[in-house]
Amino acid sequence: MSGQILNIGVDVGGTIIKIGVIDDNGRILLQEKMRTEADRGSDVIISSIIQNIDAILAKGSLRQEDVTSIGLGVPGTADSENGVVVYAPNLFWRNVEIVKSIQRVFDVPIYVAQDTCAAAWAEYLVGVGQGRRSVASVTLGTGIGCGMVLEGRIFHGALNTAGEFGHQIVELDGNLCNCGRRGCLEAYAGGLAIVREAKKRIPGIHELLRKNPSKVGVHDVYRLAQEGNPQARELTDSVVNYVGIGLVNLINLSSVELICISGGISNAPSELLLDPLIDFVRNRAYESIADRVEICTSSLCENAPLIGAALLYQEPDCAPVVRVGSPSVLPQCS
Ligand SMILES: [Zn+2]
Repeated sequence: MSGQILNIGVDVGGTIIKIGVIDDNGRILLQEKMRTEADRGSDVIISSIIQNIDAILAKGSLRQEDVTSIGLGVPGTADSENGVVVYAPNLFWRNVEIVKSIQRVFDVPIYVAQDTCAAAWAEYLVGVGQGRRSVASVTLGTGIGCGMVLEGRIFHGALNTAGEFGHQIVELDGNLCNCGRRGCLEAYAGGLAIVREAKKRIPGIHELLRKNPSKVGVHDVYRLAQEGNPQARELTDSVVNYVGIGLVNLINLSSVELICISGGISNAPSELLLDPLIDFVRNRAYESIADRVEICTSSLCENAPLIGAALLYQEPDCAPVVRVGSPSVLPQCS
């Protein structure tokens, strides 16, 4: 690994934390995973992150001074400027000074951003968004999120809450969302909502799938829809409509050139998700952008937040631009 520009990326998930040594082209050279012990509090998790950074440096025969930076992607609102995780409900964190804590141990620049922002940054720099000025990365999973890179900068918003794509209202006074409000997109097209509705609407779903109710997943619903089950198909069509509304709102408001879709639901068959979503946007977005915006699936997939975190040091608002070459290799999902 000598001669390369190396960074440490940390993707702090609600259940798993990934730590990687990543080069400037976004290639993951080493990776470790650990369980997130969310119930043990922020100090325990941060100590564990520090130990694992030490371990991965040792594994790569690297010293601290061999890495340019450490970047963290976190599952919640992050104040990148001050290095603070403002609110991460899945971790039960509020106002955790994560950068300061890690800086006590590692004498390298340390950055933090919301994981969705880190993912968008990765797509913009080394993923499907290479060469574009404005890119959005939409994650369709258990929850629904979005990160945006506008004019070459991560868009955090004044209160660092930009990109709460899953909490735009698609039905007035509609289904109750995990956020406590009603009618959010996530309450109709998030993974939990899809499975809940499938159990309600598809007669004999457990017998059809020969599965215990607790084991039914989104992919089962898409399989049934693909096999022609009418209620499953109605449900996957409604997901297209709700996500489509969300995408049209996003496109009309932000004028992004490209939206890449990732997350578990993005693995659905193209004819049931991506293709009809593209049609929805073509027919309903503001006319001058409808034909020009590109919608595709991510090339970095679940590694996007890890890679983007490692490359946060290149974000103009995080640090002076230190671009070394222009990434030309498109990393693939592993
Ligand atoms: Zn909500």
